[in-house]
Amino acid sequence: MSTATKVTGKNNQQQAQKVIKLLDELGLDASPDNYQLFHAYVSGEKPSLAKEIRPLIKDKALDQTQCTTLHKRYFAGTDLTDQALKAGGKFSKELGTVLRMLSAAERNTVEYEKTLSGATDILAQANDDKSLKEMVDTLLAATTKMQDHTQQLEKKLNKTTDEVNSLRTNLEQVRTEAMTDALTGIANRKRFDESMLLHCSASEEGEKPLSLILCDIDHFKRFNDTWGHQTGDQIIRFVASCLQRHASKSHLVARYGGEEFAVIMPDTDGQTAFDLADNIRASVESKKLLRKSTNEDMGTVTVSLGVAQFSQNDSIEDLIEHADEALYRSKHAGRNKVSINSDAAKGRDAA
Ligand code: GH3
Ligand code: MG
Ligand code: MG
Repeated sequence: MSTATKVTGKNNQQQAQKVIKLLDELGLDASPDNYQLFHAYVSGEKPSLAKEIRPLIKDKALDQTQCTTLHKRYFAGTDLTDQALKAGGKFSKELGTVLRMLSAAERNTVEYEKTLSGATDILAQANDDKSLKEMVDTLLAATTKMQDHTQQLEKKLNKTTDEVNSLRTNLEQVRTEAMTDALTGIANRKRFDESMLLHCSASEEGEKPLSLILCDIDHFKRFNDTWGHQTGDQIIRFVASCLQRHASKSHLVARYGGEEFAVIMPDTDGQTAFDLADNIRASVESKKLLRKSTNEDMGTVTVSLGVAQFSQNDSIEDLIEHADEALYRSKHAGRNKVSINSDAAKGRDAA
């Protein structure tokens, strides 16, 4: 055993002991889910989880219901799907290796059979020793049988590989669907929550800026009441496409709620996010809306936006709350506006 392995093993042991001790101190069961949750905390593999759970542990204010909720948020759903995907991928890779080995084995068998056939011919011509020839014939028959068997096995394995591959494709489709909003085709709330976890951790670790835009359609209820729900849906799709058009590849545009959207912007400071938000606002406002079914002129729609930049001491909830406060200010300032809530750019509300 190498030194590195020894150290890792010791670490694992220490971490396991810490987990058990914590569970015991908090009066929680050492169930697999609790263990996984606390192990992630102890090992520091999920910084956002650690940040959330640390004060609760300190205050001994963590009960089973909270643990279950936290476990669901940090481990359920996609993690499970990811694990299944990984397992499927690994399985299919292993099957590929087996198939390659079997093909090689079959090639060898064919060669073997050829050699034996040759030997039989030679024996038939050169010598009439029946018993020797019979022996070789028997060997030949056995070899052919073995070859058939190998071919059957290979067919079976090929079929299994196809099934595993199609299972993997299905899982990938399911995963994409589970993360996509059906009405607009942009990311849904689930994907938003996951991306926030990921980007907030990355921003903390890399000490890089991260900004969030929240966007809400103004007086949307009126649109629904005047033109009907279906036309309302058309407007939601239109705003989603505007957001998507303005966002760059590294941004995540999501439908946050009914007629609310969010843009997560890694590596982006509040000022840059503010400028993009204002471009979005102007772009939505500039488009004349025609009702699809009747071609009636519906005038224009406007959006209000709130921007916040993530600060190192914030939790994810803080960032969302700051963007939400800014959005609220935009609404109260008369709508069709952008406001920002960050130390660096406070007081820059505009439009
Ligand atoms: P404000 O300017 O303050 O945001 O006013 P508002 O009317 O936009 O806000 P409010 O929250 O009162 O109304 C939002 C409406 O959005 C209510 C709800 O019926 C509608 N809505 C939510 N989801 C959908 C959807 O998927 N399709 C449609 N057509 N309407 C939706
Ligand atoms: Mg709303
Ligand atoms: Mg609204």
